[in-house]
Amino acid sequence: MRRLLFPLALSFAATAVFAQETAKPKPEDTEIWSPVPPVVSNTAPVTTAPPSDATVLFDGKNLDQWVQVSDKSPAKWFVKDDTLTVNKEKGVGNIETKKSFKNYQLHIEWKVPATITGEGQARGNSGVFLASTGTGDAGYELQVLDSYQNKTYVNGMAGSLYKQAIPLANPGRKPGEWQSYDVIWTAPIFNADGSLKTPAYATVLFNGVLVEDHYELKGETLYIGKPVYKAYDRAPIKLQAHGDKSEPLSFRNIWVRELP
Ligand code: MG
Repeated sequence: MRRLLFPLALSFAATAVFAQETAKPKPEDTEIWSPVPPVVSNTAPVTTAPPSDATVLFDGKNLDQWVQVSDKSPAKWFVKDDTLTVNKEKGVGNIETKKSFKNYQLHIEWKVPATITGEGQARGNSGVFLASTGTGDAGYELQVLDSYQNKTYVNGMAGSLYKQAIPLANPGRKPGEWQSYDVIWTAPIFNADGSLKTPAYATVLFNGVLVEDHYELKGETLYIGKPVYKAYDRAPIKLQAHGDKSEPLSFRNIWVRELP
């Protein structure tokens, strides 16, 4: 009898392991590919001078307002010709503001190099984390990507709240042209026990075109799995050094106005 039961038990165990493997969440599970937002051409100037009550986060001169996310040491990205360029060298990674924020209005300009190569998510990928809640890519990412004639999942294109909110339109300009995001961020509020009291909301204008309209986030933006909220109080704003092989993109004229 024993001889018969042993192989039977083995086969049950193998089936259980197989079921576990197939149930493991994959990045593809949370990709949405259609409908594709309409292309909206636009030529409005993207630069807006900071209002008098703004905190200037980058004025083209230095990275005094920024640190490395990993160890809070001075930011190691490159400043040249009034622009800030991502440092994609191994071990450098994301940078974030020294200051932490709650609700705010943010202006940031970015440019994908004219010589960009790669495709999909590996073409001019970066990101503006509207709240950096930890190291790496933890937080709420407004995607930065070359979305000019570059096919990818629509909840991962420029103007998306990564893998949550598809942009309402695609006003993305050609590589080599400056573009802008203007964001109104309403931070989530948590109860004393860490549970969610009110969710986060984001409104985003991309090159002056509304792409996210007071969107209610379902939690932090994740590469794999469903979004979840994690309690925090105030958080820095973070910029992403994405690990793809495409040419590094640049930022300029970054300012923020804290809101009550
Ligand atoms: Mg990104």
